[in-house]
Amino acid sequence: MTNEKWLEEITGRVSTDAPEREPITVTAPATDEPIGQIPRCTDDDVAAAVSRAQAAQSEWIEFDPAERAAILEDFGDLVLERREELLDLVQLETGKARAHAVEELLDVPTTCSYYASRAESILADQTRDGAFPLATDATVTKKPVGVVGVISPWNYPLTLSITDAVPALLAGNAVVLKPDEKTPFIALALAELLAKAGLPDGVFEVVTGDGSVVGPALVDRVDYVAFTGSTETGRAVAERAGRNLIDCSLELGGKNPMIVLANANFEEAARGAVQGCFTNAGQLCLAAERLYVESAIYERFLDAFVGETRRLSLGTEVGYGSDVGSLIDDAQLERVEEHVDDAVGRGASVLTGGRARPDVGPFVYEPTILTDVDPDARVAQEETFGPVVTVTPVDGPRAAIEAANDSDYGLNASVWTGDRERGRRLAQEIEAGTVCVNDAYIAGWAATDAPMGGVGDSGLGRRHGPEGIERYLESKTIASSRIGSLAPPSGVPATWTTRSLLAATNVRRRLSRWL
Ligand code: NAD
Repeated sequence: MTNEKWLEEITGRVSTDAPEREPITVTAPATDEPIGQIPRCTDDDVAAAVSRAQAAQSEWIEFDPAERAAILEDFGDLVLERREELLDLVQLETGKARAHAVEELLDVPTTCSYYASRAESILADQTRDGAFPLATDATVTKKPVGVVGVISPWNYPLTLSITDAVPALLAGNAVVLKPDEKTPFIALALAELLAKAGLPDGVFEVVTGDGSVVGPALVDRVDYVAFTGSTETGRAVAERAGRNLIDCSLELGGKNPMIVLANANFEEAARGAVQGCFTNAGQLCLAAERLYVESAIYERFLDAFVGETRRLSLGTEVGYGSDVGSLIDDAQLERVEEHVDDAVGRGASVLTGGRARPDVGPFVYEPTILTDVDPDARVAQEETFGPVVTVTPVDGPRAAIEAANDSDYGLNASVWTGDRERGRRLAQEIEAGTVCVNDAYIAGWAATDAPMGGVGDSGLGRRHGPEGIERYLESKTIASSRIGSLAPPSGVPATWTTRSLLAATNVRRRLSRWL
């Protein structure tokens, strides 16, 4: 099937009452040429999508968890079967290198299998200690919150539009997804595959359109919001969710540090830095943007890092030809240029890169390594979200940790060392949701059983692991008394009741120490 035909077909999955409104034209970063158009949904469209989701959820919740798991496992299989078309589409929409698209594609079936295998036990009722041993009991039951709104960004549109939705669906929720307006087609392709896998109509809805219209409309109507995007928008989402008294998870930006200790294998660390800094042209929330290298190894590491970086090939073709692809659009390119120009204006040295490559693609920028960067430069302070990294020598591990923690963000970090145990101890001191030792980010991201998220300006809440599904559940405690009402019998003096309660409390405290 040609791409145009497929795009037209999947665009039909967005239902809008206002098709006559001016649609949004989606362009390919590789060429800046239009790919297709998507509906500009309105507040009414969001309301209708959420109503459909609410209606469908009341039936979805009746499915056995094992039946829900089977549908999502089938969906994971379909993603693998249709991988070449999906990879083409990711490349078309984002301009990223195919190898980087593969990373996100593989994440989808992995997440489906993980949650499919865990959901039943996480959702099962749990017996907890009762108020009075033997006399009363307590059981915790878990119910889906209802309709979950997922708001996703453009940088990893395949995995980030669906992997937060998968645990929500397995928990028995319906999902309404709002993908970024720059990358909506991949989300629609996933909706089509979910339907093919047997997900009932309405359980997964997609609304497309302007983030500033569709986003708030969604936050006002759903029961939970899983947001991934910038810190600025995350704050607006949190404020709105707070007003509506609904919970949310916020996966936001980062200014991630990488520390290379003197005893590290510098060549391995250099290869790790290339992956950590330039995957998806640096448009990765977990990407390293600040490198701190112990002085004893600084020159050797830098030579190796610059050498590896210069070997990277740039290209925007659909296929496996190039190592690094395009930035998403002109705004992102402008931001990268501003950060580099500002740093250079303040005395930074450009060891490699430092320029746009319109000959390769309209938004392509060379992988860039900067040294001697003024700590007040924008590139040292703000998330660049591009292929630019600063490298700074430090006097020892203490200085490295201090420098790493000197940021309002706290998403991901890495420590490179010949002593893995020491690396793990130092990791405890770094303020970040994930710290990888001797790896840039894959060890943390691909550990689907372990929670991921940010501290400080990098967000709230966790995805992955049991935490990634618990967030979509409402716990209810059902407690019962085996000895009838615990109200004091009538006519018994309060002093008597107090004495009995004190005795019961003491027994309870002793028991809880022993058990
Ligand atoms: P963004 O905040 O501009 O957009 C993210 C999503 O929010 C899009 O779907 C957008 O349409 C929507 N949106 C826009 N305005 C909204 C509003 N008022 N209310 C609700 N939704 C609204 O993000 P961006 O700058 O396009 O994406 C890049 C950022 O995302 C970077 O900062 C990056 O670090 C971050 N990110 C974080 C993670 C993570 O897991 N922590 C992953 C990927 C990207």
